Amino acid sequence: MAKDNSRDTGNSAVPKKKGRQSAVCANPLYPCAMTGAASALAGISDMGVIIHGSSGCYYYADMAVPDTLHSTFIVQDEVIFGSAERLTEIVESVSKLYNKIAVINTCVPSVMGEDIKEILADYDTICIDAPGFIGYFDEGWKLAVRELADSIPINNSNPNTNTNTDAPLTDLSKDSKGNIRVNIDGVCSMDPFHKGSLIEATRLLNLCGLKTAAVFCHDTYESITHPSPYSVSVNPDYNCADVMNRRLNADARNSTGSLLGLENVLRTFEELSDRLTETADAGIDIDISKIESECEETDEILTTEGDRYLRRHDPPRVAVYSTYAYTEFACDMIANYMDGEIVHAAARNNPPDSDLNGGENPYNIGGICTLHQIKEILSKKDFDLIIGSSFEHAAFPDSAFVGLTFPIRHRKMLYDRPVAGIQGALYLMDEISETLENGNKKSN
Ligand code: SF4
Repeated sequence: MAKDNSRDTGNSAVPKKKGRQSAVCANPLYPCAMTGAASALAGISDMGVIIHGSSGCYYYADMAVPDTLHSTFIVQDEVIFGSAERLTEIVESVSKLYNKIAVINTCVPSVMGEDIKEILADYDTICIDAPGFIGYFDEGWKLAVRELADSIPINNSNPNTNTNTDAPLTDLSKDSKGNIRVNIDGVCSMDPFHKGSLIEATRLLNLCGLKTAAVFCHDTYESITHPSPYSVSVNPDYNCADVMNRRLNADARNSTGSLLGLENVLRTFEELSDRLTETADAGIDIDISKIESECEETDEILTTEGDRYLRRHDPPRVAVYSTYAYTEFACDMIANYMDGEIVHAAARNNPPDSDLNGGENPYNIGGICTLHQIKEILSKKDFDLIIGSSFEHAAFPDSAFVGLTFPIRHRKMLYDRPVAGIQGALYLMDEISETLENGNKKSN
């Protein structure tokens, strides 16, 4: 059995920011690397994604990823005698349906040692070796994004030129009518809130007269490989735009601002405005006054709601479990508007590199931990609310609960709820205060 490398993530065991945790996916709380690679690529509408593995791997990914997936469904014959014939047969048949094909390797064929790139050398495919034993969802996502970026042809005579269009990179900041285009990054299909956040990010861009360029990773291959140099992100844990822009322009710098929380929304649009004004090629002022006034109004609403709650109740004690950026965002909301205490917080993925947030970790957000660890830690603490996934809800069915993390199975999710942007902040506060006041009678 695979060794569980999860670490004790009680608040006393804050993970070091440097030195990323590399663990096999031995923790059933979050999917494996193969699922992350599938999620990153299957949202590209003209790309066929083939899971090279058994039916178990396919159905596991299919359960988590809402977009269409294909599979080789290998059985014992291919495991013993080789899977090359089966793989090429499926690639040929799926190639009739899509412009591009991606093949994702799973544990068994990876252990078999077959070189799928070599087997598929005659086909125009992106091959990602992302078996679960290399890590969790995020490892696979990042691997797939790097392979996707590497698949973009570059004109060597001019590293700033994308040979697909022969257009200078800066031209990609405008559409054919001269409108400024901005990418929306961090759209991760496994996140139950990705569609709502995408709608909200589009609305915020439109408020400033900006158009949407590439949506990572929920767009066509053509659009994703011709991104604007400017981006905003609905979830910085799932960065793709900066990787793509660095592939197109070696000098491109990380510039994707977060839209999680009002402070980030404001900062991101201010920085975007400054960059567009400074850039001679764009050379226009964008009007962010509507964003500023909406943020101000919303901050007042959230402050009033927090004060109203605190007039009737003690500050809440809350445990938070989600991906890193969502965990930090939820902690911020609890601390800033409700004066609440974070009794325990742990991320489903590795914390970001230290230089992304100055190495700060004010809420002691721990790294990946198991449900057993969460149960053990929370059983020794008093808390009023858990924010997490259906796993935490199942472990503490009588506790007040807000769903923020995949999987959310204990309630319907038909309506596209946002977590990012101004509406995202309102949504989260709405859920938290409503659930706290009505307790487990209306756990969301
Ligand atoms: S790739 Fe490996 S860890 Fe992932 S579902 Fe398949 S067997 Fe399990």
